[in-house]
Amino acid sequence: MERVVERLSRLPGVGRRSAQRIGFYLLKSPPQEAQELSEAIHAQKASTRQCSQCFDIAETDPCPICADSRRDHQQILVVEQPSDVAMVEAMGAYRGVYHVLMGRLAPLEGVGPGELTIEPLLQRVARERIGEVIIGTNPTFDGDGTALYLARRLEASGAKVSRLARGLAIGSSLETSSKAALAEALEGRRPMGG
Ligand SMILES: [Zn+2]
Repeated sequence: MERVVERLSRLPGVGRRSAQRIGFYLLKSPPQEAQELSEAIHAQKASTRQCSQCFDIAETDPCPICADSRRDHQQILVVEQPSDVAMVEAMGAYRGVYHVLMGRLAPLEGVGPGELTIEPLLQRVARERIGEVIIGTNPTFDGDGTALYLARRLEASGAKVSRLARGLAIGSSLETSSKAALAEALEGRRPMGG
């Protein structure tokens, strides 16, 4: 039991109390429950990886989007999660590439810049002389804070930095927005900072 709790508590967002709750749940559940969970994790690890350029989850590295020469590699849309990439791709209105932060800054939850893929983003923008960075973090308190932080860090890079327009309702996330609202938000993106 202690081994399970110790392992679970290493997962992001899972504290020791939650790890214990999950551990007890698995202990009480039928054996195939744990079996299926471990098989699903195993299968996922075997078939997917993280793209070393944009940090999206894909079956190849680089991912199909980063490897696609027909896309505009000078324009990066920064999003919080791989699911946001899937959402924007489903919309079919964006031709640039992405950068997945793997979360957002949340100082109260102990999520600082070091927990996200911010350094690799800054390096990528400098190395590839990126023309425009569109910040597509969710329009939430933390998402806005993350956008401001990124805009400040990108100031010296020479890249144009913009933020998705507020076509999206406050508090909604990219994932739950309608495609039309997303297209509008992309279209009406506004420059940030200097
Ligand atoms: Zn990629």
